[in-house]
Amino acid sequence: MRQHKLALCKDHFLEWIPEQTERFIKKYEMFTHEQKILVAVSGGKDSLSLWDILVRLGYQVDGLYLALGINEGINYSHESQRLSQKFADENNLKLHVVDIEKEYGKNIPQLSVISHRGEGRPCAVCGLAKRHEMNRIARDLGYDVLATGHNLDDEAAVLFGNTLNWLSEYILRQSPVLPSSNGLARKVKPLCRFYEREMTAYAILRGIEYIYEECPFADGSQSIFYKEALNQLETARPGAKLIFYLNFLEAKKSGNLFIEKNVEMQHLHPCPRCGQSTSTPDLCSFCRMIEKANATSTLL
Ligand code: SF4
Ligand code: ZN
Repeated sequence: MRQHKLALCKDHFLEWIPEQTERFIKKYEMFTHEQKILVAVSGGKDSLSLWDILVRLGYQVDGLYLALGINEGINYSHESQRLSQKFADENNLKLHVVDIEKEYGKNIPQLSVISHRGEGRPCAVCGLAKRHEMNRIARDLGYDVLATGHNLDDEAAVLFGNTLNWLSEYILRQSPVLPSSNGLARKVKPLCRFYEREMTAYAILRGIEYIYEECPFADGSQSIFYKEALNQLETARPGAKLIFYLNFLEAKKSGNLFIEKNVEMQHLHPCPRCGQSTSTPDLCSFCRMIEKANATSTLL
């Protein structure tokens, strides 16, 4: 790990990752051993590794898998669900499975076509549905915290994209911990300081079987482009990604983000249908999308 000037053998690396995770959980006051945690799993290396680490650290943690119905080409959803279930079964863990099509009558690609969002790429609809469903399940099943497997590469790419486009409100909102607020679950990202390759190494060394393929719609996405740009920077200057992200968190904590003074946060109110916070007038974007999908089905 060039950024830490540290080289570890397998055994020490497998101890180092949970130790560091525990340190981040405490540093950012994410959760305690008394709280019930729901980890969102996608069958990928990050989320399954996060689940594995939290179990090894002795936390009370169950999994949530959202079946998106993305089965073009590589059967992405079937395979990612199979691997999530396999991990849960092998470790005697509880996995909640929510099938978007069974819940709402349409899968993610179908909802995307109906709602005319994203120009053939369902990511906008997918992100909206994932956020909504994760909040709903965490709240309805009484979990204190929702944990996701975002790693440093994910977080740095989001920050980079938002900075390039100077999206001040999004920049201010980015954090390893989002406190709960009207109808929205508390969200935490315990892996946010680990490089993606550290998580890949962890999953492989722990023998976790995960889905290697990306979702077919990830190809050519903005976030992959930003990750590649940051990787070039990292190759030339080891640690650049980590410094970019950590210095941002530090500046934010000490109130030194100069944009802060100029940004007016949008007014939020509870959606009259699902109760989750929204800035859109009347229904939240998710409930509006489902209403539109239902109206379209009635016409067909
Ligand atoms: Fe959803 Fe897009 Fe991610 Fe695929 S790449 S899982 S469609 S957000
Ligand atoms: Zn709603």
